[in-house]
Amino acid sequence: MIMKLYLFAAALLTSITGFSQQKLYTPRDVQKAYKNGTRSLDGKPGKNYWQNKGRYKIDITAMPPSRLIKGAEMISYVNNSPDTIKNPNIKLFLNIHKPGAARGQSTSRDYLTDGVFIDKVAVNGQARPNDNTQNTFTNFRLRLPGALLPGDSVQLSFDWHYDVSLQSGREGMIDSTTYFLAYFYPRVAVYDDYNGWDRMNFTDDHEFYSDFNDYDVSIHVPANYVVWGTGTLQQPEKLLQPAVLARFNESLRSDKTIRVASLDEFRSNNVTTQNATNTWQFLASNIPDMAFGLSNHFVWDAGSVTVDTITGRRASVQAAYDNKSKDYTYVVGFAKEGLRLLSTTWPGIPYPYEKTTIFQGFAGMEYPMMANDESYPDTTFSKFVAEHEIAHTYMPFYMGINETRYGFMDEGWATTFELLLNQQHMGNKKAAEFYKQFRVTNWINDPNAEEDIPIITPGNVLTGVASGNNQYGKASLGYLAVKDMLGDVLFKKCLHAYMQRWNGKHPIPWDFFYTFNDVSGKNLNWFWSNWFFSNGYIDLAIEKVAKASGGYSVSLRNIGGFAAPVNVIVTYTDGQTETFHQTSAIWEKDQQATKVLIKTSKSISSIKLDGDIFMDADLSNNSYHL
Ligand SMILES: [Zn+2]
Repeated sequence: MIMKLYLFAAALLTSITGFSQQKLYTPRDVQKAYKNGTRSLDGKPGKNYWQNKGRYKIDITAMPPSRLIKGAEMISYVNNSPDTIKNPNIKLFLNIHKPGAARGQSTSRDYLTDGVFIDKVAVNGQARPNDNTQNTFTNFRLRLPGALLPGDSVQLSFDWHYDVSLQSGREGMIDSTTYFLAYFYPRVAVYDDYNGWDRMNFTDDHEFYSDFNDYDVSIHVPANYVVWGTGTLQQPEKLLQPAVLARFNESLRSDKTIRVASLDEFRSNNVTTQNATNTWQFLASNIPDMAFGLSNHFVWDAGSVTVDTITGRRASVQAAYDNKSKDYTYVVGFAKEGLRLLSTTWPGIPYPYEKTTIFQGFAGMEYPMMANDESYPDTTFSKFVAEHEIAHTYMPFYMGINETRYGFMDEGWATTFELLLNQQHMGNKKAAEFYKQFRVTNWINDPNAEEDIPIITPGNVLTGVASGNNQYGKASLGYLAVKDMLGDVLFKKCLHAYMQRWNGKHPIPWDFFYTFNDVSGKNLNWFWSNWFFSNGYIDLAIEKVAKASGGYSVSLRNIGGFAAPVNVIVTYTDGQTETFHQTSAIWEKDQQATKVLIKTSKSISSIKLDGDIFMDADLSNNSYHL
């Protein structure tokens, strides 16, 4: 179905490419990508598109309550680029915990550790000099003994260790025998076609950028510890006792939420095989990251849901949590509903993984097939967070987004899917209230100039309010304005084309903008420039209302600059009201002022502007009395 639409669109629309697409501001690094043919002005990957890949075999040992995590790793890294690589950049994210590391926020003593200590480095089996003092915190420059030529591959090995931090954020210790392990392994940074090596320091303010790799991860833990994580668990029958295994297997086929392992069973050593240590092995291919949670007492619930209505494929949904967290007893149900709606409504692409696990921690953070979510007293919020993090499956993971630089390409979409799912849970009115409260109010009511920095600004140079609102609410409203303007059918067709073209690759904003232009058959550069490249906010005003042939002409002024849709609510002299919805298209020709014709034979007494979720910064100029 998508394929058919896509071919039709491609045939229809080649005509619009080229003549005005360059009007969008294009940074010099991105211009270079178009010149080299790695990207294309019709929004598709260019004929010379490439990306690099690693195959990771990782072995780690975690023996709580010791906080020491030891790892050994072998990476086969393939250079698909046309460039010769000499000094690959290796990411050591957990050095964010080192005293003296640059951090976006202040932190407590319990967050600090000695960071990652590299015990051994080898290239193609040959030991290399290894001086940990040379690690510039979250980046580690590895000097290869010889050049890695285009099309060639290299074997990199690392032994390393680190201590899990007492205070956890996206990863760390949840309690003395429960750890969440993420970003724990040295990895080759992304080397891409427009920016070269990703050498941005990880400060915790912005998120990640990862290649699509293959992983084979083995985790050695003591008996009675369960490991939940990304990838296919190998040989669960060797790890779980028969009753637990039977319930786990049943959960993969059942519509019910099943208690796979209870606290009592953990306490009586009835969950895992009683070896001194068990090895939990997980395999996953073509995936941007792996993360794991482990515990000897977290309750384990599971169920499953059909995510592909055509093939009947089911995905497993699991939750691991402290017995005291009452909201978590509902989480499998919430997550199943999220998977079903994401798969069948928005974005309407079957959930691409075999499972998701929501693990109770202190974050609200997504990983492929995993989320680390807090427990909340209000289950509405538990559901909201579960769905938001699962929605991230599509962006950044299915799509390989550079979150560090262009976080609005994933957070803006997760925020949008949040609203679209909530509309189905609680109706449009309540969903809009929720969205306004969490995603719009803080931005629109803050006159700080930081709020007006263009969304396209690379995320790593932003902090504070600009960083958050540019990625979430402002960007989401931009996507929703386009949805409103194109209508749901055409919008979804564009979104699916974008997702099909760039699934498993690294799209940048221009690939998204140009795909929407290409597939919609409309040159939307005026809108992209307005919403994503300009200093704007939402403030529309009624300037004048005059009698016109067939009704009334309403003169609107756009004070804030953003090309927002708006409802023109008319009250007639007979007391009745009528709403005339205007999409962003009213601003296409003139983005400062426009006239809207209200066709009516009745007499109007007053007119009011209501942006609904497109909240207006100044309501004092939104009404007009005749
Ligand atoms: Zn998010």
